[in-house]
Amino acid sequence: MDDLIPIGEFSARSGLSAKRLRSYAASGLLVPAAVDAASGYRYYSPRQLRQAELLDALRGAGMPLADIHEVLRRPSGDLLDAWARRLADDATQRRGALDVARRLLAPASSTSHDPAAKGPVMKLNATGRTETGHVRERNEDAVVAGSRLVGIADGMGGAPGGEIAAGLAVALLQAAFTGRSADELSAGVRAVNRAIWERAKGSERLDGMGTTLCAAALLDDHTLAVVNVGDSRVYLAHDGTLTQLTTDHSVTGELVRRGELTEAAAVRHPHRSVLTRALGVGPDVELDGGAYPAVTGDRLLACSDGLFNEVPAEDIAAAMAARDDVRVTADRLVEQALSAGARDNVSVVVAEIVG
Ligand code: MG
Repeated sequence: MDDLIPIGEFSARSGLSAKRLRSYAASGLLVPAAVDAASGYRYYSPRQLRQAELLDALRGAGMPLADIHEVLRRPSGDLLDAWARRLADDATQRRGALDVARRLLAPASSTSHDPAAKGPVMKLNATGRTETGHVRERNEDAVVAGSRLVGIADGMGGAPGGEIAAGLAVALLQAAFTGRSADELSAGVRAVNRAIWERAKGSERLDGMGTTLCAAALLDDHTLAVVNVGDSRVYLAHDGTLTQLTTDHSVTGELVRRGELTEAAAVRHPHRSVLTRALGVGPDVELDGGAYPAVTGDRLLACSDGLFNEVPAEDIAAAMAARDDVRVTADRLVEQALSAGARDNVSVVVAEIVG
């Protein structure tokens, strides 16, 4: 025991204060090799010098005590690599949250931002409905029915992934929405994609989760911006004609576009639910979208595939052409899907441009 080092000398040689050494001793991370029973004086062994320096470096890296215990018990680079990955993930998530906060702050701090200066204020009179249907156990669809923004997310992935992905998609899109431009709407959807992807990776429970997302937004300059990923749809009813504004990113959608499948056959196709693009399955995503003039009296319909795979296109067009109150139209469409069997979750948002 001759080579025992008194705490004062150990402190000087390790560069750690006596106070810090006492706190490491109290947490069980670096227990003195010997304590004088009479005086309570602490002594360390020379081999504890390296351990003290390692411990201090890990504390400096912000590693939790439980993980430090593990590294000291089983010294290996793997645990350090895992901690480095967690730090990188945390930083990415915090940067994503900051981006959302920045967007939320931007309209309030801009004095030149005044939609009313461009004429009468237009808005959407929107209503949404979403139903589990008769076959599925859970509802993995989510809807947005706001005065400037409408949309649908249809989640996918093992339970509870789909539900979480769809819920995140609509909540984050609403938070990111600025109303200023179609580019900002697309940038918002890209940020939503990355946030879902970040959330999914590293979680076994949420592995493989993703969602469709379609949205139509009434912008400050009175244009209507539409964006979509997956096979949820936005239609525009103008002058008695119903036009689909979105592109289906699905196996059947591709076949219809190539002229190899009819719309009517697509709804019975065994691969009608197989998507070729979805939100949250990779760090980046390719979007489709467009901008259209917003015309007072025109109506929008956003829906999940649970509607158009159950209700014939002509019945959807007839419901939209009837020009009932938007709530009546939404109820009518959902009831038609439920009567037809509702094998999937059914969601609709019906909106009229007013003002
Ligand atoms: Mg669906």
